[in-house]
Amino acid sequence: MNYKHIANLISNAKRITVITGAGISTVSGIPDFRGKIGIYTTGEYDPYKTFDIDYFKQDPSYFQRFAKGFVEILEKAKPSGMHKFIAMLELEGKLEAVITQNIDGLHKKAGNSKIYTVHGTIEQGHCLECHKAYTFKEMKSIYLNDRSPFCNVCGGGIKPDVVFFGEQVMFIKESINAVRNCDLLLICGTSLQVAPVSNFPYYVKPDVGIIVINMGDVMIDNRNVIRINDELEKAAAILFKEVFNEDISD
Ligand SMILES: [Zn+2]
Repeated sequence: MNYKHIANLISNAKRITVITGAGISTVSGIPDFRGKIGIYTTGEYDPYKTFDIDYFKQDPSYFQRFAKGFVEILEKAKPSGMHKFIAMLELEGKLEAVITQNIDGLHKKAGNSKIYTVHGTIEQGHCLECHKAYTFKEMKSIYLNDRSPFCNVCGGGIKPDVVFFGEQVMFIKESINAVRNCDLLLICGTSLQVAPVSNFPYYVKPDVGIIVINMGDVMIDNRNVIRINDELEKAAAILFKEVFNEDISD
């Protein structure tokens, strides 16, 4: 019932902005940092030593250890059904932008190009001193330990373009504009508990509808919200069928 209604809204929309979080990538094998097997929960990695920028500058080995495991998972990860659905929205010319809290690069892998990675991405890096850019291939060889984590030009430390604690979040202005300009806001796989993304929905125009697809509670207070509390893969399969008349279940 609800799905037919939201499929209609999506079909009729022309400038959809999508906000995504960890829930969209768990089925791709990426652990939710805050979920049951996430690094904030299991204690396998100390989040402070792993993601604090000042600590990283003193001793990058904690991050390196995390990144090695993360990159090994990423190598095998494939975009989920919901990633593919969002890529299809762009392909069909219906997408304003994707705003994601994820650092896994899976939206790009799925085929999206209009992506605002507010927490950065693990797929590239920069020298902290001379700002030389490093590709994912180079970053991978650092994480997998066959290459030194120091810049080959100036000897400075190389940091991935992931937003650490103590660093500025990226693409705030662009994200807020994408929310202001959209004619439908679709929020997938996030409980909206982490700022600044949790504030973005408040920038929609008053008459713009908001669809939230997530398993579990979502911190949002808006008169125009339609909630789907369901598995994202199930939602993606239904929406593919309803909006694009495509079957992705096999
Ligand atoms: Zn350098």
